[in-house]
Amino acid sequence: MNRRRFLQSAGAGLAAATLTPAAARAQAPAIDTRLPDVVVIGAGAFGAWTALALREAGARVTLVDAYGPGNSRATSGDETRQIRLGYGDREAYSRWAAEAMTRWRVREAEFGRRLMYPTGRLQLASSWTPAFEATTRVLGELGAAIERLSPGEIRARWPQIDPVGMEVGLFEPGAAILRARESLMLVADAFERKGGQMLMARGVPGGTAGRRLTDLATASGSRVAGGVFVFACGPWLRTLFPDVLGTTIETPRREVFLFGPPPGDPRFSWPHLPVFSEATYYGFPDFDHRGVKVCPVGGVIEMDPDRDERIVTPHYVRRAHEYLARRFPAMLGQPVIETRVCQLENTADEHFVIDRHPEFDNVWLAGGGSGHGFKHGPVLGEYIGNRAIGRPTDPAYDTLFAGVRS
Ligand SMILES: Cc1cc2nc3c(=O)[nH]c(=O)nc-3n(C[C@H](O)[C@H](O)[C@H](O)COP(=O)(O)OP(=O)(O)OC[C@H]3O[C@@H](n4cnc5c(N)ncnc54)[C@H](O)[C@@H]3O)c2cc1C
Repeated sequence: MNRRRFLQSAGAGLAAATLTPAAARAQAPAIDTRLPDVVVIGAGAFGAWTALALREAGARVTLVDAYGPGNSRATSGDETRQIRLGYGDREAYSRWAAEAMTRWRVREAEFGRRLMYPTGRLQLASSWTPAFEATTRVLGELGAAIERLSPGEIRARWPQIDPVGMEVGLFEPGAAILRARESLMLVADAFERKGGQMLMARGVPGGTAGRRLTDLATASGSRVAGGVFVFACGPWLRTLFPDVLGTTIETPRREVFLFGPPPGDPRFSWPHLPVFSEATYYGFPDFDHRGVKVCPVGGVIEMDPDRDERIVTPHYVRRAHEYLARRFPAMLGQPVIETRVCQLENTADEHFVIDRHPEFDNVWLAGGGSGHGFKHGPVLGEYIGNRAIGRPTDPAYDTLFAGVRS
């Protein structure tokens, strides 16, 4: 399929499915008895949105989570995530992100809470890159604004940024900050309000009958029966399904620092500063007065999401301070006021994995968010839900996400 046809077919499916606020507000849809009962395991960005989409489609749905939606062990469990369209030449994700932005707005209206805060995204580099070129082309095709900036233009627009060592900036004005944890709690609330059942339990595959899983076995000894099971367990997927995902997903640790801006100085707070990124760092403006977020990228130390303590280390504290002082000189010496230690759930090519279990016809595995999955939640949920209940989906995306080893 050539690129233009792919874009057209991907867009056509999504446009037809776009929700209106009125439809999204509709309460408890009737159970459609033609649909299987679905058990979704994991209430992170992948699972919570899937459960909501399936309930809205009329399925009877149970959403099971060991620690609760948006919990602090989960990869989704942070206050903020960014939404942007720029994905280099990976236009399938750009297109989904564009649709996701529309849907986040619809959900804001439904939930009665602002969740998306435009602030723009500035990528810095020492030279113009093929990825910048591709982002510029794809966003142009999508009709989204994108600007190439020189160091002088960056200084003029944001005098609080020193682009020293950088020769070029790519600015996506439409990029925004999402309220992450809070949005998941709102999704879970909506799911329950619409008749979904939430269960706090750790579940593992239980009984089987031929090529079908018959129930989920919980740690407390109970069983949850279902017709279809969607395991959306983020960084836990690889240990739950070691044979098929054990080497596909890695869970490297990341340390995130929030630096307090100087008193009475709004220059580093939303909406005065964009989300920023470069080769080995990214960060967010001070949001909700919690501080300027800086994450030094790199490192492959594997994290156990259940048992590891989430305490930052001197090496990364130093790296974060050095970066902050270099890029935002007026932040020199400002203190770390909050920290967070989390894990990614990366695939080697950073594509999501949404695929059927090779041994069970009614088991779906969904994850591999690879540091960019959160924003897609409203689109992802509907896509995963459709696959789980056998509704047609775009084959281009099915192929992209086919990552389970058989
Ligand atoms: C530092 C960092 C920054 C990021 N920044 C962005 C960003 O700016 N924009 C963006 O779009 N994405 C971003 N991402 C990626 C995004 O956060 C993830 O792709 C997404 O949150 C993954 O969601 P998930 O549902 O797959 O996993 P999780 O959020 O981890 O959810 C999995 C859930 O499953 C539950 N669970 C696990 N095992 C079981 C079991 N056996 N029984 C019951 N429950 C179980 C857990 O309790 C958990 O709630 C970032 C990630 C990190 C780490």
